[in-house]
Amino acid sequence: MTKIRLIETAFRDAHQSLLATRMRTQDMLPIAEKMDKVGYFSLECWGGATFDTCIRYLNEDPWERLRSLKELVKKTRLQMLLRGQNLVGYKHYPDDVVKEFVEKAYTNGVDVFRIFDALNDVRNMEIAIKVAKEQDAHVQATLSYTTSPYHTIDKFVEIAKELEALECDSLAIKDMAGLISPHDTYEIVKTLKDETDLLINLHCHCTSGMTPMSYYAACQAGVDLLDTAISPLSWGASQPPTESVVAALKGTPFDTGCDLKLLTEIKKYFEEIREKYSGILDPITERVDTDVLLYQIPGGMLSNFVSQLKQQDALDRYEDVLKEVPRVRKDLGYPPLVTPTSQIVGIQAVMNVLGEERYKNPSKEVKEYVKGFYGRPPAPINPEIAHKIIGDEEPITCRPADLLEPELEKFRKKGEEMGIIKKEEDVLTFTLYPAVAPKFLKGEAEEEPLTPPKSDSPGEEHASLPTEYQVDVDGESFQVKVVPTGFMEIESINESKSSGPVEGGVNSTMQGMILKLKVNEGDNVKEGDVVAVLEAMKMENDVHAPESGVVQKIFVEEGDTVGTGETLMVIK
Ligand code: MN
Repeated sequence: MTKIRLIETAFRDAHQSLLATRMRTQDMLPIAEKMDKVGYFSLECWGGATFDTCIRYLNEDPWERLRSLKELVKKTRLQMLLRGQNLVGYKHYPDDVVKEFVEKAYTNGVDVFRIFDALNDVRNMEIAIKVAKEQDAHVQATLSYTTSPYHTIDKFVEIAKELEALECDSLAIKDMAGLISPHDTYEIVKTLKDETDLLINLHCHCTSGMTPMSYYAACQAGVDLLDTAISPLSWGASQPPTESVVAALKGTPFDTGCDLKLLTEIKKYFEEIREKYSGILDPITERVDTDVLLYQIPGGMLSNFVSQLKQQDALDRYEDVLKEVPRVRKDLGYPPLVTPTSQIVGIQAVMNVLGEERYKNPSKEVKEYVKGFYGRPPAPINPEIAHKIIGDEEPITCRPADLLEPELEKFRKKGEEMGIIKKEEDVLTFTLYPAVAPKFLKGEAEEEPLTPPKSDSPGEEHASLPTEYQVDVDGESFQVKVVPTGFMEIESINESKSSGPVEGGVNSTMQGMILKLKVNEGDNVKEGDVVAVLEAMKMENDVHAPESGVVQKIFVEEGDTVGTGETLMVIK
C-alpha cells in the first residue's frame, strides 16, 4: 500500500544546496530512465537557481535540459520551482512575461509547478497559479515557512485557504532553512489536513539536524508528499536521503512504494557524480548547523558572514551580525528568509554592524522592499526605520506587478534586432536575464571549468589568508575577491579607499557585472553621482563618481563582467 509519495530533488534542490547548482545536463541524462522507474511522485529538475546557472556558468540552454529530460522520463512527473511573479529571476516581471513563461515551461515538459512567494503574498502567486492551472498542470502552492510572532498556525491556515480558493492541487510547506521542529511539523500538517482538502507536501533541508524526525511527525500527521534527495546528495543543506526514508517507512502505513533495490543502483551513479563535483562541495554545506535555530539564517549565509568579517579584521563582530539579522527581520516585518529576502536582510545586517550607523546607505533592494515593490510584508515595517530608508515616500498598496508595463514584445523586438532570437523561448531567456543572456544566446558564453577536487592537506588554508572566496548565497555560488582596504562586497563602491593605479579612475572593488552605464563619454558629473550599476551577489550596487569632472573614457559596456580593481572609466 502506498501512502506517502516522494519528490526526488537530485536534479534541482540537492545540487543547488550542495554543489552550487552546477550539475550539468550530461550528468543527469544517463540515470534519468532508471529514476523514472523508482516510483517517485515527481522529479524536481528545473527552476530555482538552475535557469540562471545554466546560462551564466554552464553555457547550457535550460530549455534544452528540460526537453532532454522529458524525452527520457516518460512516467514520472517533472517538477519545477517557480518564484511566483519573480519566475526564475530576482525581481517581479509583468504578467505577460509570467504567462508566456509558464506556458512555455509546460509545453517543454514541466508537469508540476511549485509556486512560492518569499513574503507569502498570494497576489504575487495568483497569475502563475492561474496560468499553470489553464495548462492542466499539477499546481502546487507554497507556504514559505518561518517562525515569528506573526507566523501563527492560524495565519498559515488563512493563507492556505486563499491558495486553495485558487484551485491549487497541493500545498507545500517550504522550510528552506530547515528549522521546523517535529512538534510544529505535526501541528501544522495536521491542521492543514483538517482545514483544507489539499494534498500536503513537506519540503525541508537538514541544516538543523531535526528534519528526519520532523518528516516522521509529518507522516503521523497525515502528510501526502515528502521531498528527499538520493543519499550521496543528501543531508546538510540538502534534503533527507531518499533510500533512508523509503526504508524507514517500508511496510508501515506510510509506505512510499519506491523500489529500494533500484535506488541502491541509482545511488552508485550519484556517488560518482559527487566525486566528480567534490571540488565545489563546500564542507560547510554538509554540516549540521544548529545556529539556524537561533538566527534563522540559512547555512550558506553564515559562511558568507565569516569570510566578509575576516577580511575586515572584524571577526569579533560575527556574533553581532548574527544578532543583527533577527533585528533587521523584525524591523522589516518578519520576512521569511528565502530568495530574494534572504539576501536583502543578510546584507543589510552586515552593513548595519560594520557601518557607522544602522540603515545608512541602504541597498536599492531594501528601498524597494520598504516601498512595497516585493509585496506585503508579513507584519508592519518599523515606521522609524521605514522613514530612514525611504523618507516621506508612501509605499504602494497595490499588487506590485500591476505597476509593470508588458515587456515581452519590447524584448522580442530588441532581441531580433540584436539577432539573438532563434526560437520562442529565447525571447523569455532574454527578457529574464537581459544582461547575461545576449552573450549566451550569441554563443559566446563558455562553460566554467569544473574545479579540481580539493587538496587534502588541512593546514593549507591557514598558511596565508586567502583573498578570493567562493561565497554561497542561498545555494548559489559567487566568486568574490576581497580587497583588504574596503568592504566592497557589501558596501557600495564610493566607500572604497582603493583608488587604483589610474588617476581619476573609477574602479570596481568587487567582481560583478555591469548592469547599467548611467553616463556617456563627455558627460559632466558631480562627486557622488551614480555613474554605473554593478550587479554582484544578486544585488544591484550603485557606482558613484569619486570626484566631479568630465567622463573622459569608458572602458566597459553593459553586460561586461568586471574583476576586482578593474578601471571602469576615467573622470577628470
Ligand atoms: Mn529548498
